[in-house]
Amino acid sequence: MKAAFYTLGCKLNYSETATISQEFLNKGFDIIPFEQPADVYVINTCTVTQNAEKDCRQTVRRALRQNPDALIVVTGCYAQLRAEEIGQIEGVDFVLGSNEKFRIFDYIKDFEKNELSCIHVSDSDDLENFYSASSSEADTRTRAFFKVQDGCDYKCSFCTIPKARGKSRSMNPSDAVSKFHSLIREGYKEVILTGVNVGDYGLNYDQDLYKLLKSLLQTPGDYRLRISSIEPNLLNDNLIALAADDERVCNHFHIPLQSGSDKILKLMRRRYNSSDYKRVIEKLNARIADVGIGVDIIVGFPGEDENDFENTYNFVNALDVSYFHVFTYSERPGTSALELGNVVDVGLRRKRNNMLRILSAKKRAAFYRGMKGKTLQTLFEENESNGRMTGWSSNYTRIRADHNPEMINNLIQVQISETDGEFCYAETSQIKNNFKLVVGQL
Ligand code: SF4
Repeated sequence: MKAAFYTLGCKLNYSETATISQEFLNKGFDIIPFEQPADVYVINTCTVTQNAEKDCRQTVRRALRQNPDALIVVTGCYAQLRAEEIGQIEGVDFVLGSNEKFRIFDYIKDFEKNELSCIHVSDSDDLENFYSASSSEADTRTRAFFKVQDGCDYKCSFCTIPKARGKSRSMNPSDAVSKFHSLIREGYKEVILTGVNVGDYGLNYDQDLYKLLKSLLQTPGDYRLRISSIEPNLLNDNLIALAADDERVCNHFHIPLQSGSDKILKLMRRRYNSSDYKRVIEKLNARIADVGIGVDIIVGFPGEDENDFENTYNFVNALDVSYFHVFTYSERPGTSALELGNVVDVGLRRKRNNMLRILSAKKRAAFYRGMKGKTLQTLFEENESNGRMTGWSSNYTRIRADHNPEMINNLIQVQISETDGEFCYAETSQIKNNFKLVVGQL
């Protein structure tokens, strides 16, 4: 039997798909690309994407075009929230919720196509189990996404994730350490700790993210750790000091802001105001040289008038950060933001999004210019067809150099000679374990 997988949404979803596909491998299935005729297609959906339903429908059709008799299983956040809608999509055989997606073989016994869709979705209040997951970036053994936390106890008014994934819960700390050991033994040089609200790690174990990092860092080996994203109110002094003092913790933080207007932050029910956020950014910059900082921003939230947007624009423009991820607010069924009124015109939302994206490109270019002449710890992971390779530095600078197979999947120090705003270019490099390599001039 052949199985194929498709993931919509975030890295967390990707790591979960990888774990589900491993289960299929263990049961003797061949895993094949989604574009080939398979006996089973598993689609792991997302609720954050603007066109969740459309994306899901299209992906089901794509699968059925490959093999009209294939069994179609739809799971993930969107399946948890909109099981009935998905069940109506022609050709869908099983809809499995967030709890059920890791127990596919308990629900599907004979892998025969059904007349009607079978729906197995637990109540959102019952999403209490923690299922670990990990995956590698683009099938390389270079960077691993390691899920250590799931769910969220926050109540941001625009967000459906707590309903789709349940309450905040974490991986048992000793299991996390042993899984981390195996990832390092498997040869991963960078492990990215992921979750829905990673900064909230450990609540159910009287632990926290700082203690987890300290335990993981006991593991011997040549590796580095990155935190995928962390809420500003959870990025505390201990974590900042650890990143400053231990080079194995990447000097890069991705910190959701969402708005620079305190009025909007309050309506969003975020747990900080713009001054709190600014203080965190100042601390990071004061404590960690060349720290890379990414910022999530949502534009067009209900009630965001010209003045609020201007505040956001000016606020992030003045911040010492390196890039933004800009999202356009879109209405989500079941969220309290729907009741706020003062809807922002869709065209205006797009315009604001564009303005911030342009500003982000300028910020990134300025950050990259600041890296010229500096030496950055880099992990090359990709071969490009044009004889080059690319990788990421610890501070999340995208680096390109002439291809050299010995440098792939090694933590090396590279000196930045040039940038075009999109990449930094390395000229000369030094491999960490004491021998030198010269990367040709670009
Ligand atoms: S912190 Fe807010 S935006 Fe993030 S997952 Fe939790 S509720 Fe959603």
